[in-house]
Amino acid sequence: MTRSDERKPAVSPIRARYDVLVAGGGPAGATVATLVAAHGHDVLLVERSATPQFKVGESLMPATYWSLQRLGVLDEVRARAFPKKWSVQFFDHRGAGSKPFYFHEFRPEESSQTWQVLRSEFDQLLLDNAARKGVDVRRGVAVSEALFDGGRAVGARLRLDDGSETEVASRVLVDATGQSALVARRLGLREFEPNLRNVAYYTHFVGARLDEGIDAGATLIFRTADRKAWFWFIPLPDGVASVGVVGPVEHLVEGRAADPQAVFAEELGRCERLAERLATACPTMPMKAIRDFSYFSREVAGDGWVLVGDAYGFIDPIYSSGVFLALKSGEMAADAIAAALAAGAPTAESLGSFGPELRRGTEALRQLVYAYYDPRFSFASFLERHPQHRRDLTEMLVGNVYRMPLDDFVAALAEERRRVSRPARAAP
Ligand SMILES: Cc1cc2nc3c(=O)[nH]c(=O)nc-3n(C[C@H](O)[C@H](O)[C@H](O)COP(=O)(O)OP(=O)(O)OC[C@H]3O[C@@H](n4cnc5c(N)ncnc54)[C@H](O)[C@@H]3O)c2cc1C
Repeated sequence: MTRSDERKPAVSPIRARYDVLVAGGGPAGATVATLVAAHGHDVLLVERSATPQFKVGESLMPATYWSLQRLGVLDEVRARAFPKKWSVQFFDHRGAGSKPFYFHEFRPEESSQTWQVLRSEFDQLLLDNAARKGVDVRRGVAVSEALFDGGRAVGARLRLDDGSETEVASRVLVDATGQSALVARRLGLREFEPNLRNVAYYTHFVGARLDEGIDAGATLIFRTADRKAWFWFIPLPDGVASVGVVGPVEHLVEGRAADPQAVFAEELGRCERLAERLATACPTMPMKAIRDFSYFSREVAGDGWVLVGDAYGFIDPIYSSGVFLALKSGEMAADAIAAALAAGAPTAESLGSFGPELRRGTEALRQLVYAYYDPRFSFASFLERHPQHRRDLTEMLVGNVYRMPLDDFVAALAEERRRVSRPARAAP
């Protein structure tokens, strides 16, 4: 043993058996692990990256407040230098800006302000909290294979960062591996959204022009002049801005330059309002790309396994709903797992009892996503025809899809889409 080994704190070996094994240490995994441990169960969480990493998904929805409160991390999040997000504003293809959707307009409460986060810091904060609350958190450990006995998940094979492998048995295996979707891929459960085959190119900039006051931390969404793509602009700590372009694969990939940087620059040329903000800005890292990220799994759970966060599904980045759904599905799954373990029956039925409620919210958001991408639909005209729905639309942007009934609003959206798609009646 060397002197430096002697100074390292002793790390106990991973045990052979836990009540619950969580694969993935993003917001969904950290949430489910923390809340199941709070019920007194033995939880192991493994995260494959040894150190905190850059991740996309930096803009929170205000409704994350309630999950962060339940996790007991609100004060810690408040103490970070994360910019405060009070609103989101949409710019159309001509560059005209909507009135900002201020989250506190209809709900003047503390929960109506949220944050733009550095995910490396945010995810680590949630993992540290999980560890403090009794979860056995291991970084640099990947699930290499989910283990099944017939149709029942019974644990996982783990690959440690020294390359060695070990097997762990669990009563419940939670897949929180994000877009890796370990279990849903293995079981062939993923169904891709047929009309959202999108790609995103994104990076960070310094030196972008930022707004001031209450708007300094706003998320801005810009449609390009030909309406085929859109950009996000998300202010981050230290004057950094996260900027990304999203559009269909057939528009941004097929027949375009192989270099994402070149495609990004071409699209920026079609987006004057954003280009002027970035005129003197410089990227701080190489352009990143991700595609085919919109899918849902046919099931949320089976015998001995549960899916949470992106490992269950993700719809689209347009409304920044991903982290909210990761936290919320983590909460719902934790309650179902605790109840199933208490009843001694972690079956598909008991573990999946939260599925219908989870889908209620994801479906409402899905309808809103499709409205944005519908070339004939305009939110401005919709709100002119239905001014009473501005409040509902703001509630959706807040993420209040589980806190209030939005059925009438979703039905009105669907009706408006049907109306604008009907051929105009020929003049007599
Ligand atoms: C282009 C784009 C932009 C987005 N922008 C936003 C936004 O502004 N706001 C927002 O809320 N959401 C946004 N999202 C969505 C958001 O990033 C995700 O919904 C969110 O990160 C999901 O959290 P998660 O915990 O489910 O998964 P993740 O955050 O992806 O965490 C999964 C974790 O599992 C680990 N892992 C993977 N495989 C294994 C394995 N085999 N063993 C162990 N660990 C493993 C990974 O390292 C990772 O840390 C965006 C998504 C995209 C594609």
